[in-house]
Amino acid sequence: MAIDPTAPYDPDNIFAKILRGEIPCDKVYEDDHALAFYDIAPQADVHILVIPKGEYVSWDDFTAKASEEEIAGFIRAVGHVARERQLVTRGYRLLANVGRNGGQEVPHLHVHLFGGGPLGPMLAR
Ligand code: AMP
Repeated sequence: MAIDPTAPYDPDNIFAKILRGEIPCDKVYEDDHALAFYDIAPQADVHILVIPKGEYVSWDDFTAKASEEEIAGFIRAVGHVARERQLVTRGYRLLANVGRNGGQEVPHLHVHLFGGGPLGPMLAR
């Protein structure tokens, strides 16, 4: 079910539990600002989620409240993961679902990083 991107942060959401090490993940990368891991239900040959370490419900919450350092660190981490996974030459796609229309299901900001082959049209209509 889609989440409310304006609701207060829920510290019991599944990505918060992954960040605290309470639930395992297939880790790709970690630094002071971000954690990247493989999506449990991949929708492309390569499907990685990159999440900030801070408690932000959504892209909206993050861009409104995060510090410049957090924003720069997170965005740099996304770029780093794409380079490290050799996705740049053939190209890749980034996606952040926000709220009901976006179909966001986990209330901790995550950027989907898709690659590994042609990804088709941007949206299925
Ligand atoms: P969204 O619809 O943008 O909120 O995407 C949530 C994503 O999280 C989906 O692609 C799920 O497959 C993925 N997901 C949910 N639980 C886990 C988990 N424990 N480990 C990795 N990915 C997960």
